[in-house]
Amino acid sequence: MKKSVVFACLYLCFVGFVFAQSIETEEIKYIKAGRLFDSEKGRILSDHIIKVVNNTIFEVGTTIPIPKNASVIDLSSYTVLPGLIDGHTHLLHSETVTDKHPIANEILFQGDALRALRGAKRAKSFLESGFTTVRDLGNSGQFLDVALKQAITEVTVVGPRMFVSGPIISSEGGQVVGILKHHHQITSNEYRIIKNVDDAINAVRENVNYGADIIKICANNTPNNTSLTIDEMRAIVKMANRYNKKVTAHATSNLAVWEATTAGVDAIEHGYAIADSTLTLMAKKGTALVPTDISKKLLYKYFELLDFKGDLEKAVISYQSRKRDRLQRAIKAGVTILTESDNYMDFEIPQGEAAKNILVAYQEEGMEPLDILRSSTYLSSKFMNMSNRIGVIKKGAFADIIAVKGDLEKDFSDTIFNVVFVMKDGKVHIKE
Ligand SMILES: [Zn+2]
Repeated sequence: MKKSVVFACLYLCFVGFVFAQSIETEEIKYIKAGRLFDSEKGRILSDHIIKVVNNTIFEVGTTIPIPKNASVIDLSSYTVLPGLIDGHTHLLHSETVTDKHPIANEILFQGDALRALRGAKRAKSFLESGFTTVRDLGNSGQFLDVALKQAITEVTVVGPRMFVSGPIISSEGGQVVGILKHHHQITSNEYRIIKNVDDAINAVRENVNYGADIIKICANNTPNNTSLTIDEMRAIVKMANRYNKKVTAHATSNLAVWEATTAGVDAIEHGYAIADSTLTLMAKKGTALVPTDISKKLLYKYFELLDFKGDLEKAVISYQSRKRDRLQRAIKAGVTILTESDNYMDFEIPQGEAAKNILVAYQEEGMEPLDILRSSTYLSSKFMNMSNRIGVIKKGAFADIIAVKGDLEKDFSDTIFNVVFVMKDGKVHIKE
């Protein structure tokens, strides 16, 4: 036999072997969805079938034939949704309502190993609550978020897909309250403290190099009182865009929100005080708002843990009416709302479950259930440049799929907690 013929035979044998292997390892599942949330259009469809091949959605429709002996997951009594996305988490951080120095405590008295182990437990609680993706925005030491993400990706621990920021880029002091000047270097264990525009550029390079998917900054440092300048933030945005990364800014005062928006950040976290003129600027520039509000139930729990002695009803009503006013003004101005949690408070329930309560807060403030869910799936994925891959149930997306028992439109606040099924990356984690 000629050499070329021998080679051709060997090649064909090899291709045949690889092909046979891929057929053998292909795992096909059919999911029967009684109701299906169409996250792009924000509507509920009925009686659909989702064909999942390995970790990907292969086909979605009403007339997909299911072969005999196929692996079928029957969710015909439930509402099926794309896995939820929480775009503002702190899996490596938790504090009690009375803790005066939570971040310093974590740096000085917990250390990386304990924080990481606790982070892994919190990550699991998010997945169990139906969040198949989180964007973790700092307070994770020096890249513990990157390590946790890796541990989840390699299935060393169980958790949602993680997109991470690395250390928050901040001006002097970060958010570590009350530290003495001669101990200021402790803050650098948690934040990337920058001194000027050139340092700001270097900080972005560092974070990207060590694994950040997004850049998180403190436009202002609440509860501390320093802030970045517009020039520093502009330099950060420019450098981040060069690496195709988005920038999101902790900004609580109207001035901080206005300056961060002017500098070109992609989203504002909190924005507790925003003037209408600033909301108009955000709408014009396409800057999203992440309100990070808290539900009534958690608010009562917060005051209980605080041993609050004042007029409880009055305090709750006052908080909620301020937050409702801010949210409604933002919606009216045409600002994109991302319904993320920022839950880091220890409410004596799993962190993922507490984060779910945030979705209820948006309903209490006047958003419709399907708009909240659209925000927590489709809009979040769009913001993360991940549309068509997560936050949707469509051909080509990752098989991140959950199901709830109940009626999402009529009884949102109970139904959203009734998670009966969680699939991430084609693998089933919870099944009723
Ligand atoms: Zn936060």
